[in-house]
Amino acid sequence: MQSILHYINGQLVEPRSGNYLDNIDPATGAVYSRVPDGDGDDVNAAVAAAEQAFPAWSQTPAEKRSACILKIADAIEARLDEFARAECVDNGKPLSLTRNMDIPRAVKNFRFFATAILHSKSETHMTDGQALNYTLRQPRGICGLISPWNLPLYLLSWKIAPAIAAGNTAVAKPSEVTPMTAFMLSEVCREAGLPAGVLNIVHGLGAKVGAAITAHQKVTTISFTGGTVTGREVARTAAPMFKKISLELGGKNPNIVFADADMDRAVAESVRAAFANQGQICLCGSRIFVERAAYEPFVNRFVAATQGLKIGDPLEAGVDQGAIVSKPQFEKVSFYVNLAREEGGTILTGGSPPPTVNDRCKNGYFFTPTVITGLGPNCRVNQEEIFGPVTSIIPFDAEEEVIDYANGTAYGLSATVWTQNLPKAHRLAERINSGTVWVNCWLLRDLRVPFGGMKQSGVGREGGDEAMRFFTESKNVCISVS
Ligand code: NAP
Repeated sequence: MQSILHYINGQLVEPRSGNYLDNIDPATGAVYSRVPDGDGDDVNAAVAAAEQAFPAWSQTPAEKRSACILKIADAIEARLDEFARAECVDNGKPLSLTRNMDIPRAVKNFRFFATAILHSKSETHMTDGQALNYTLRQPRGICGLISPWNLPLYLLSWKIAPAIAAGNTAVAKPSEVTPMTAFMLSEVCREAGLPAGVLNIVHGLGAKVGAAITAHQKVTTISFTGGTVTGREVARTAAPMFKKISLELGGKNPNIVFADADMDRAVAESVRAAFANQGQICLCGSRIFVERAAYEPFVNRFVAATQGLKIGDPLEAGVDQGAIVSKPQFEKVSFYVNLAREEGGTILTGGSPPPTVNDRCKNGYFFTPTVITGLGPNCRVNQEEIFGPVTSIIPFDAEEEVIDYANGTAYGLSATVWTQNLPKAHRLAERINSGTVWVNCWLLRDLRVPFGGMKQSGVGREGGDEAMRFFTESKNVCISVS
């Protein structure tokens, strides 16, 4: 059985404890590889390597750093099929998704930040003929990069690329649930000639490896993506040490459909927004609000389109819905669907696992996309993040009412508005408290724009200049000219 290894100081190494965890293919429920059960000792070794690499890497000219990171992008792209298959098996998501979204986006992340550093700007200010000020942006040192299982390489590379492009060194921890493509990335980094210690990847559990990274005195900067509860724990540890922290956390995103929307697009994209990646995208629209005049036809079309999604072996072509990532996540989804029943909801479709998709996948963690109506906006199912293929549809009568619904959770990550009335779209965009508002689209991403959440969906922004600022420290140099 294949053993994943840590990537520390340019070497692929075993965990110091010698202990491994099972890595399960969620489509089959079978153990298919082993992942290091890393701990604080492994993190200490990774931090030592990152510390040693920092002086040279931070002083390496941007052009050379850029060239090295571009080689990483090229190498992933050259192995696109291999990466896509690995992520499909590790995560349970359809191969078409890993091939067309996850892995190409990881390539883009490396390319984007490799080229961004060639165009970075600095500011100068003249102080009334007395002084010239200029701002130096310098790398912060060792960055701790912690990512979840839902978009494994996509999100990890979204952190690694800006951190190392800016001249930092890094200790990264992928989710132990989906470690394979991070392991493949370490092989790619070696091939691409990334100097030893610039990037270190330590595998293992959040409570051991993630906690050790967060608590390490020499890690100056923490970029974390994951659940709100874990984010709170990370903040509790890192804040008293005055680390710079970015937290990208959970969401319970509203998808608002007005009666004047282009219904063909609104239905098709709302289905995608609810169920893409089995609903395991932080930006999924899991609360759909539909203006009453359009409610019934929308619900009918939405249910029909949901029933048209093909659930199946994620490795097969034409499959829309693969497996839920893990047994605990499958159990969480089942719990919330039962809760919806208890809360008085009507399950219009789904609500249980599908019949066996094929013999290979008979023990996999599949769940039929589920549509619920009849629940109020304040019940637990409509307030708590489920993070699975479950969506609830609620009617509304007025603009003010739906703004209240949209803002009526602890979260504020993203929102989508479907309307052909542009002034109305602008009004909602201004008043909905979320980091992203999509109008007549969903998950359209421009890597230059700030990305992040409001309220309990997080603090800090990633993306473009925001990421380059996050991973650098600005210093003012003031020169007297009098
Ligand atoms: P999670 O349980 O919070 O885990 C995220 C990462 O943190 C994993 O690598 C995890 O390791 C690690 N971790 C766990 N405990 C830790 C600790 N005490 N200290 C440091 N690290 C620790 O989240 P998840 O279940 O993997 O991912 C789903 C969540 O991520 C959802 O809430 C989703 O909304 C959110 N998410 C947010 C965004 C965004 O951009 N806002 C994007 C994607 C996902 P283990 O896997 O080993 O536990």
